[in-house]
Amino acid sequence: MSTATVIGSGPNGLTAAAVLARAGVEVTVLEAADEIGGGTRTIEAIVPGLLHDHCSATHPMAVGSHVLRDLGLDRHGLRWRLPEIDCAHLLDDGTAGVLHRSVAETARGLGPDGRRWRALFERPARGYDALSEDILRPILRLPRHPLRLARFGIPTLLPATALARMFRTEQARALWLGVAAHAFRPLDLPLSSAIGLGILTAGHRHGWAVAEGGSRAISDALAELLREHGGKIETGVVVRSAAQLPPSDVVVWDVAPTAVADALGDRLPARISRAYRRFRRGPAAFKIDFAVEGGVPWAAEHARRAGSVHVCGTAAEVAAAERAVHAGRLPDRPFVLVGQQYLADPTRSVGDVHPLWTYAHVPHGYTGDATEAIIAQIERFAPGFRDRIVGTAVRTPAGFARENANFVGGDILTGAKDVRQLTFGPRTTLQPYDVGLPGHFQCSAATPPGPGAHGMCGANAAARALRHLRR
Ligand SMILES: Cc1cc2nc3c(=O)[nH]c(=O)nc-3n(C[C@H](O)[C@H](O)[C@H](O)COP(=O)(O)OP(=O)(O)OC[C@H]3O[C@@H](n4cnc5c(N)ncnc54)[C@H](O)[C@@H]3O)c2cc1C
Repeated sequence: MSTATVIGSGPNGLTAAAVLARAGVEVTVLEAADEIGGGTRTIEAIVPGLLHDHCSATHPMAVGSHVLRDLGLDRHGLRWRLPEIDCAHLLDDGTAGVLHRSVAETARGLGPDGRRWRALFERPARGYDALSEDILRPILRLPRHPLRLARFGIPTLLPATALARMFRTEQARALWLGVAAHAFRPLDLPLSSAIGLGILTAGHRHGWAVAEGGSRAISDALAELLREHGGKIETGVVVRSAAQLPPSDVVVWDVAPTAVADALGDRLPARISRAYRRFRRGPAAFKIDFAVEGGVPWAAEHARRAGSVHVCGTAAEVAAAERAVHAGRLPDRPFVLVGQQYLADPTRSVGDVHPLWTYAHVPHGYTGDATEAIIAQIERFAPGFRDRIVGTAVRTPAGFARENANFVGGDILTGAKDVRQLTFGPRTTLQPYDVGLPGHFQCSAATPPGPGAHGMCGANAAARALRHLRR
């Protein structure tokens, strides 16, 4: 029987482990933290029983992920829940750009921009399941659906601000740019549309789903499947050197490229080691989980029904906030993402106290305190919010890095998603999962198709590892 060691139990590590175990490989997962899951943990940070997603919360990419569906995680307790409204982007005049799962319903709400929204998303969303076979793997492959990919791909090349100019209403412009800002990039650069278009297309097909009981349900289901196939997981094991690893036929690293270079040292070809050490990091997140009595008193009615709320104001304000963060400054009014997962999944609340998940985009390695800026941004659109706060749990960029070594400087996407790194991953190669040492592969969110709890980096790396084993 072939053997594999997987380092790191994030959604990609666990997916790689589950795919290998299901193929008959004897798998051991080594995880640094005391708990499995990496970016898919769920914690009780403030009130016992109140469930806060530690990192990832909303899963338009995971709910439609081929590999997660193919692994049959529903048999292991994973249930997706959809909010009534996927996302509301709030404006000071009390209106909002409102995103529904349905393209037609979203378009209806966007008035004169409805036609353009439909033109951009209707066809790609309808064909998303086929399209995702091409976009959730390394880009430089012979596409399975070339026409579909070309139609989707052309707008992704544009700066997000250029696409925003297609829209006439502030609601559509801000809604679009708020989603594009998930890429943590200056929004006036080429390819800054790619991640936003991917999220919106996936969301219009499958919805901005949350996992019942918290995102940990994703990693728990993967771990259960792994164990069903004889796999083992050891927690509290920090792998710093390849010498620590048990003998195995393949090794799959769900860790940042710099950590791979450190652990493999001289065994790694020098040019690959250099590329990994040059790996560029992106801005950071400053997160506050709130316990809120009675929920947030949003002035806009749509926000009271939305699973996600984007808080920053106009498209111009979003673009300026992201520019400031990239220039190393915390803007007075940062871009704040708010998650109200409990609306779709009431099991997370305790009575009338609800868990509110928020984070602001801040500069890489930011050491200040963004608490007041986050509260002020929410209060701007929900007067009286402050009075409803029962408790808070703050996670700084340094805190993220302490709890998960992949999030260096608070960079929660595991690397800047600039043109090169988004296209190729940590080094310019057609085989981004190969680390250049026979039998060693990497599968973290630093590799294509990038961040998210979709498990596709893990699935693609596991496919490479299985190919190696068959040889
Ligand atoms: C605040 C926040 C919000 C987010 N929101 C979303 C969202 O809403 N939707 C979404 O899809 N994604 C979101 N993400 C991103 C998502 O969580 C990540 O992209 C995803 O978890 C990456 O998975 P991964 O398996 O590559 O790595 P990770 O989840 O980072 O897991 C890596 C694991 O490896 C372990 N590890 C690291 N180094 C070592 C070592 N040397 N030895 C042993 N173990 C090690 C870590 O402890 C960790 O458990 C968010 C992330 C954060 C932090």
